[in-house]
Amino acid sequence: MAQSIPRHHADVLVVGGGAGGVAASIAARENGASVLLLERGSAVGGELIGGLPFLGTANALGQPIVGGPLDILLDKCRDLDGYVGRPFDGRLMYGTMVDPEAMKLAVVEALAERRIRTLVGTSVDDVVIEGREVRGVIAHTKGGPTLFTGDVIVDSSGDADVVTRAGGEVLKGDEKGTLQPVTLVFRMSHVEFPVLLEFIRDNPDEFTLAENPVIEKTPAECAADIHASGHPFAMMQGERPGSLLSDAIEAGSMYQTTGIWMWPTSMQRQELGFNTTRISGVDGTDSFAIADALSQLTTQVQQAMTFLRRNVPGFKGAHLSGVAPRVGVRETRRIKGDAVLQTEDVLAGKKHPDGIARGGHHVDIHGAGTYQKRVPVRGGMSYDIPYGTLIPAGFDNVVVAGRCLSSERDANGSARVIGTAMAMGQAAGTAAAMAVAEGSGSLRAVPVVALRESIDEQGGVISGTN
Ligand SMILES: Cc1cc2nc3c(=O)[nH]c(=O)nc-3n(C[C@H](O)[C@H](O)[C@H](O)COP(=O)(O)OP(=O)(O)OC[C@H]3O[C@@H](n4cnc5c(N)ncnc54)[C@H](O)[C@@H]3O)c2cc1C
Repeated sequence: MAQSIPRHHADVLVVGGGAGGVAASIAARENGASVLLLERGSAVGGELIGGLPFLGTANALGQPIVGGPLDILLDKCRDLDGYVGRPFDGRLMYGTMVDPEAMKLAVVEALAERRIRTLVGTSVDDVVIEGREVRGVIAHTKGGPTLFTGDVIVDSSGDADVVTRAGGEVLKGDEKGTLQPVTLVFRMSHVEFPVLLEFIRDNPDEFTLAENPVIEKTPAECAADIHASGHPFAMMQGERPGSLLSDAIEAGSMYQTTGIWMWPTSMQRQELGFNTTRISGVDGTDSFAIADALSQLTTQVQQAMTFLRRNVPGFKGAHLSGVAPRVGVRETRRIKGDAVLQTEDVLAGKKHPDGIARGGHHVDIHGAGTYQKRVPVRGGMSYDIPYGTLIPAGFDNVVVAGRCLSSERDANGSARVIGTAMAMGQAAGTAAAMAVAEGSGSLRAVPVVALRESIDEQGGVISGTN
């Protein structure tokens, strides 16, 4: 079939236009490569445009640990009046918040300005292999099956689709194959922020606060800080008995969940995003399982809105203003790479001579029912992600960017967040362009010292933080 179908070529072919893929595309282009980006969704951006806060952009001490392509997109959001800020949640972390509607425009503009051809509605479902190289992928466009070739392929599908189709080794979930639950994120506008902020200040027991030992404050002091920040960025808790949420779960009017995470997505619309719905036991690489989960998740969205309107001051006049464009999948496959990101290195904030990106998010693994594992990085530090974690074993011209990096499961529970995925994307795109320039397209031929220098020159953060 590959002989008879239309063909397109670029130096660097990027599969998946989410946090990792957008950053990789920008970085590869800025380093001189031609880039083609293939995205199966109807819009480009993946979880960048789903309404989530960008975590892992700073460590728990507030030191920025991601730059480069992230900064390009945030500047564009500022120009569109869609940058909210980077508040602290009084619990564990800082989050970078934007209006997802502005981010939709920012992503398209950033790619178009760099003449990065981006095909949406284009799902990669096969690969063409020659020895240790993936020469191209077959994707379905509106015009039918098409062959896309690249000297280097960036697999930023989140699910390691290219590596899997090429026969590379992958792991999935824990030793029993258990995966984190799926979630549908939604937004409500016309929330009375001042009223809600007073509720947070006066009811710290309803929230999870001061979980990170680097916070030398009581939960009540943290709640007061959130009030003073003007940003309702907090987690209503459903884990411990006696709270409004855990009572509602007990009574059956709310589904089982760890909490209701809320954060501002637009100050102008007085709008909050919510991460709370959840269904366990769903494999995000199984389209039928996702289809079955969707209607249960939309029911949960309505339950959550009813709960908030009935129980939480500030929500009486609030209404639904957005639903994420797809079911959110936290975890599927991760590759087996030249190196493996170790959990103990993550928790120790370990730096590596071949570190090409920096993470700082706590180990964050959602489980069934109300369970969630949360373990902060020691001392609020950040850790390095070694280059080899992005290089799948057995292939010379493939690099991954995003949550499918080679990692122990708990380490992945930290490195999977958007900020870190973008930092890995910057590294993967830069390495891809360097491999093309060097002539062989081999990612292993890229000198890590030169790669680190290039990332540093382009605003990436790989040194100078705790
Ligand atoms: C419900 C939920 C809540 C989360 N909360 C947060 C949070 O608050 N803050 C945070 O920072 N992180 C959060 N995360 C984690 C974070 O969003 C992701 O792990 C991160 O976006 C990973 O980036 P990525 O580039 O690997 O994947 P994605 O951003 O998912 O991008 C992958 C892209 O590849 C595309 N794709 C997939 N397969 C193919 C294919 N075969 N062909 C073409 N395109 C393909 C997808 O459509 C998608 O656009 C959350 C995740 C979920 C699901």
